Amino acid sequence: MSASVSSRAEAAYLGLALGDALGATVEFLTPREIVQQHGVHREISGGGWLRLKPGQVTDDTTMALALGQAILKCERRIEALACAEAFDAWMRAKPVDIGNTVRRNLIQFRKTGHPEAPYSEHDAGNGAAMRVLPAALATLGKSEAEVRAACRVQAHVTHHNEVSDAACEFIALMVQDAIQGASLRDLYRQRIIPFVVHWPIYTWRGRWHANPSGYVVDTLRAVIQSLMETDSFESCLVDVVNRGGDADTTGAIAGMLAGALYGVEALPERWLNMLEDSIASSVTGQARALLPS
Ligand code: MN
Ligand code: MN
Repeated sequence: MSASVSSRAEAAYLGLALGDALGATVEFLTPREIVQQHGVHREISGGGWLRLKPGQVTDDTTMALALGQAILKCERRIEALACAEAFDAWMRAKPVDIGNTVRRNLIQFRKTGHPEAPYSEHDAGNGAAMRVLPAALATLGKSEAEVRAACRVQAHVTHHNEVSDAACEFIALMVQDAIQGASLRDLYRQRIIPFVVHWPIYTWRGRWHANPSGYVVDTLRAVIQSLMETDSFESCLVDVVNRGGDADTTGAIAGMLAGALYGVEALPERWLNMLEDSIASSVTGQARALLPS
């Protein structure tokens, strides 16, 4: 793997963790409440409804790390049972937060041993999309069909829904293009336009997507709008988390995309300095290990 690809992969994973840590402070606030409490929220300061330490991350980052471990255990293949076992072990370790769909379907896995959740038209939360990055890194260089299939295997452990699948596959392909050097303009033409043509529900244009919920369509509209209307890692993340709502998750997804796009030099030093050391070393170590050699 070339040095620039592996450095952008590390930037994507660090970006995920930075966006999670930044956004968690304002998760579930409205934009107006954020203005009242923080002005513009632009520092990794902890707190929020989870009362985090500054630089602490949440389920978005730790589920991605659990997925990455499962992939590495299977010699870089994405296998449903290994993913389910890793998520189950993650849940047993009492994470700081956990989504309802994730919890329900992991409890179901404990009962049945079957690592695929039943199809549900309601399970279109952002829980599978927020953690998809390790699957994108491990399948770099594979065919688009294989990338999409790998995304669905990891997603269906907890979220078996075509709208969630579309989001996971879109994010993974965007990340792969960006770490291989695509510009924002390339991403817009090659991925964003075809995606919203195929899935008009994801169209982000027009109104400012404030207060995005955990519904993956809300999440991704906010992320795409922030990505398209800013020109740096920091401005993209500040823009997306100040919309409030599921801000740690919009931050995490925007962080992986903008990290891959703008590279490691664009990650603000003052944010990297705040990130928990063990998380920073885990994400960079996994980024290197997951890429094909
Ligand atoms: Mn979270
Ligand atoms: Mn969240």
